[in-house]
Amino acid sequence: MSRRWLFADQLGPHFLDERKQPVLLIESKAVFRRRVYHRQKAHLILSALRHRAAELGDQAIFLRGETYGQALKQVREPLEVCHPTSRRALEFVRNLDGVTVLPARGYVTSLADFADWADGRRGALRMEAFYRFAREHHGVLMDGREPVGGRWSFDTENREPPPKHGRIGIPTPSMPKEDDIDAEVRADLDRWAREGIRFAGRDGPRRFPATTTEASSRLRHFLRHRLAAFGRYEDAMLSTDPWLAHSVLSSSLNLGLLDPLVAVRGAERAYRQGAPLAAVEGFVRQVMGWRDYIWHTYWYFEKGWRDSNALGARSSLPDWWRDLDANSVDARCLQDVLTGVRDRGWVHHIPRLMVLGNYALQRGWRPSELAEWFHTRFVDGYEWVMTGNVVGMSQYADLGRMTTKPYVAGGAYINRVSDYCGGCRYDPRQRLGEDACPFTAGYWAFLAGNRGRIPANARMARALKQLARLGDLDAVVTQEGRRGSDPP
Ligand SMILES: Cc1cc2nc3c(=O)[nH]c(=O)nc-3n(C[C@H](O)[C@H](O)[C@H](O)COP(=O)(O)OP(=O)(O)OC[C@H]3O[C@@H](n4cnc5c(N)ncnc54)[C@H](O)[C@@H]3O)c2cc1C
Ligand code: SF4
Repeated sequence: MSRRWLFADQLGPHFLDERKQPVLLIESKAVFRRRVYHRQKAHLILSALRHRAAELGDQAIFLRGETYGQALKQVREPLEVCHPTSRRALEFVRNLDGVTVLPARGYVTSLADFADWADGRRGALRMEAFYRFAREHHGVLMDGREPVGGRWSFDTENREPPPKHGRIGIPTPSMPKEDDIDAEVRADLDRWAREGIRFAGRDGPRRFPATTTEASSRLRHFLRHRLAAFGRYEDAMLSTDPWLAHSVLSSSLNLGLLDPLVAVRGAERAYRQGAPLAAVEGFVRQVMGWRDYIWHTYWYFEKGWRDSNALGARSSLPDWWRDLDANSVDARCLQDVLTGVRDRGWVHHIPRLMVLGNYALQRGWRPSELAEWFHTRFVDGYEWVMTGNVVGMSQYADLGRMTTKPYVAGGAYINRVSDYCGGCRYDPRQRLGEDACPFTAGYWAFLAGNRGRIPANARMARALKQLARLGDLDAVVTQEGRRGSDPP
């Protein structure tokens, strides 16, 4: 049986054919020299890789060195590797002698199934249509040929604002315990930092699973204690509770510790045992709908998609943003979210899309730089996740291949879904003057600057009509031009 080379995001048992299969693991230091990673992300990756090596013992050759190329020179036997998760890594392994590249694992549907589905379709490839296909294909939440409950999506029943008293009343996610391997990783990273390798964010306790056992335990805890509240507060943001009812499983899925189909089947079982359908369907849609869709579009669309910049955003990310300097920010929503990134390397979907992404879009920051920032500053960030989520969805840099309108919003939206505005020095209703909310003013300035480029479709028509009626628009645009990329 050939030795299976596992990349550091292919660490679970589903990346092997047999339990006793020989394995190669490589830890490359050069990876951490090339980019400025969040300190906790670097810790998680190294910890997961070293834990896997310890679990496999003699079954694995574990090489630690500068580059993959140098490490591979020490291996004399033929290797096989599952399809890697970035174009660069795929090209690298395809060019190696003696390495067989196998189909991808770690996603619910295969690349070939997606291509079959997509090739036969006319028009835009929307997530909703793919999600139906995937549900039918795998028979998930189905009653014969019909979706359970008679509908594919229960999204309209979700999305409540956060409760007024600041708690949703469920246990917080289960947390892993650090061990000797973590202590060794921390000491190594301290040493690397002294040698000049740069990291962003703060160090902190490891909050994300590094082994399949830890990831399965977080999944079980989520299914039992937290899933039932999942959909209801999906769009809400609370300054007192960063986790809400989110599963906090993205890093485990993306490290390959957890098989997404296991998570989906677990949720389906919870439904059969009485969990509310809207919550279960919402979670299943995220995992086998959104996650797979983002993965597949990364490969299916052309390579240049990553560099799209159709709105012509020209500004570089400012230093305070790159350095996660939350203390320099007054805007309470952005300050809290940036603090979360700095201290945890994770915030949930709505802060990513409607606070961070929204602000970057309004300020005209380059989508490719923002994608790199999300990739390196988040514990679950990988290149394949960035193109769809950051370039496509959040920055509208491809003029809507995956969404029908830009995800841009003013303070009124943030006020509706969060508890941030009450304690903020800005006023979400004001667009001009000292108290003007930078999101509200930025929203109108963005629409003014891009009205020729964004679609005048039904979803944007009202906003564009309102824009045309604003008597103070020129003053708002001048004010926001002055604010530019300074911390708000
Ligand atoms: C600008 C931006 C950047 C993002 N960057 C990342 C990233 O670096 N890595 C990442 O995994 N997700 C990313 N996402 C998607 C999503 O925000 C995270 O997957 C989610 O917040 C992770 O928290 P969770 O595990 O609690 O998710 P839950 O809300 O519990 O959802 C369950 C699972 O569904 C999957 N999922 C849901 N939505 C998406 C999506 N749009 N893309 C991919 N998977 C999805 C994740 O695996 C997640 O664990 C990004 C979204 C945006 C808008
Ligand atoms: S007023 Fe504006 S800046 Fe302040 S918290 Fe609300 S949306 Fe954010």
